[in-house]
Amino acid sequence: MIEREQVPMDVVFVGAGPANLASALHLKAEIKRHDELVEKGFKPGRQIGDLEIAIVEKGSFVGAHILSGGVMDPIAIRELMPDFLAQGCPVDTVVTEDAAWYLTPTRGFVAPITPPPLKNKGKYIVSLSKVCEWLGEKCEEAGINIFPEFPAAEILYDENDAVIGVRTGDKGIDKDGHKKPNFEPGVDLLAKVTVLGEGSRGSLAKQLMSRLGLMEGKEPQVFSLGVKELWEVPEGNFAEGMVVHTLGFPSDTRTYGGGWIYGMKNNVVSIGYVTGLDYEDPNIDPHHEFQKYKTHPKVAKILAGGKMIKYGAKTINAGGYYTMPKLYADGVLIVGDSASFLNGQRIKGIHTAMKSGMLAAETIVGAFDHEDFSSKTLKHFEEKVNLSWIYDELHAVRNFHGAFQKGRWSGLINTGLQFLTKGMAWGFMPKEHHVAGHERMQKLGEGKSDASRYAELKFDKELTFDKVTDVFYGAVAHDEDQPSHLHVLDTEICATRCAEEYDNPCQRFCPAAVYEMETDAVSGRKELKVNFSNCVHCKTCDIADPYQIINWVTPEGGGGPNYKGM
Ligand code: SF4
Repeated sequence: MIEREQVPMDVVFVGAGPANLASALHLKAEIKRHDELVEKGFKPGRQIGDLEIAIVEKGSFVGAHILSGGVMDPIAIRELMPDFLAQGCPVDTVVTEDAAWYLTPTRGFVAPITPPPLKNKGKYIVSLSKVCEWLGEKCEEAGINIFPEFPAAEILYDENDAVIGVRTGDKGIDKDGHKKPNFEPGVDLLAKVTVLGEGSRGSLAKQLMSRLGLMEGKEPQVFSLGVKELWEVPEGNFAEGMVVHTLGFPSDTRTYGGGWIYGMKNNVVSIGYVTGLDYEDPNIDPHHEFQKYKTHPKVAKILAGGKMIKYGAKTINAGGYYTMPKLYADGVLIVGDSASFLNGQRIKGIHTAMKSGMLAAETIVGAFDHEDFSSKTLKHFEEKVNLSWIYDELHAVRNFHGAFQKGRWSGLINTGLQFLTKGMAWGFMPKEHHVAGHERMQKLGEGKSDASRYAELKFDKELTFDKVTDVFYGAVAHDEDQPSHLHVLDTEICATRCAEEYDNPCQRFCPAAVYEMETDAVSGRKELKVNFSNCVHCKTCDIADPYQIINWVTPEGGGGPNYKGM
């Protein structure tokens, strides 16, 4: 039995992403406002005073694990801090021009008008990692405690299943599970309200939804994987402030996918490709889709003569409104991507994540005012969301992704019609509406599996890169003498059923070459090898595995990618 320190806090935020950082800052400001109004007699209730607020973050610094395309709609940050630019928010570039391209394998067509959801003029191209680092500094200035390298490993519940805080991960356990000389037990951070803002497929949010049935009556969450590189390109190849979104090559018409190319300062280009993790063909490899994307003549021309400087991969919640869990339970709220707040049609979630965090903060003020941290008070969070512009934005595109599960043309026609009808589905959705991605993966030989889809893709290390090289550019590091954080619950399935039925798709869907099937020289039997130290924490394996036997848990704090500046 390990003795653990108990640290009493008032509010604990899990994850230092845009949702939680905005939430913590807004909470501080709203408490001050509330107390002043109560003091002057303009508001009934009690003064709350100083709260102990903590943000725990698994990365080595705030921003280390933050990755986005990223064009930021400033609507939420403006509400949080109207003078965010004057206060030094590190936006990179203002969007001055945008375009939509349709790519065939050899040609590219520029849409005569950019579809309204993809219009970005006046918005900001950002490194979300840098914006979060800056928000973290603002939080610290406001007296909020931030603990980097402290992954929240478990949720703490009381005897009635109310959440009472989180336990952080132990440090100093070797790969066989024994304590090393530097062993430090995790601590129990006790909180009246815990806010889960861990990003897409949050490991604690997943546990919570399952234990408390928060997805009951909701459609399954649906995800996409974005794979991104930053490039330095020669002057004149691509204009600063230019934003391009593409559809078509290399995705087939049954697979959801699209690319982006954003022109940043100093001739840096953010380029990436999103593949829906609800693809049917188990041969698909989202990293290879991106590499193939860069070989398109119109895209390759932009990168010609340039060099890749950074790599990253991250999943996003693509399902939207219908796939949002119940957002509250006793003692806990879920915000941002963890609760599917992203607008899939605009491929934007920074603004909705921040706004969800701010509404959570306002709910928490009410909870402290009434000294009630149960669902009775915390349910107001969901009501606030449904009364805010988040509802207007997400409800109007509620059927966007589902229609693409019937193929590209169905998705596009539905997108046009829903734009005119504020989101009606028009019969283009699959019968079941959103279907969980892993359930859509077909076995080899079923449907149209194509084992030769990357036959012509060569990794020349100039334009295209293999996964191991890319991982190097993600600056990924984990102490190798620790237990693997990728729990494969039954490796016998990998060696037998999965090998026969899907040819082990984990080798392809992981964008960091973590999973390999090795053939034993003597028995000829296939065995799974997990190179966990390559992991970029994208969560794809936890989502896409057709047998759902991969469980991603937090590794020792500080490990993972370093997305500084991404
Ligand atoms: Fe992503 Fe899983 Fe691969 Fe890690 S192991 S990079 S979470 S797919």
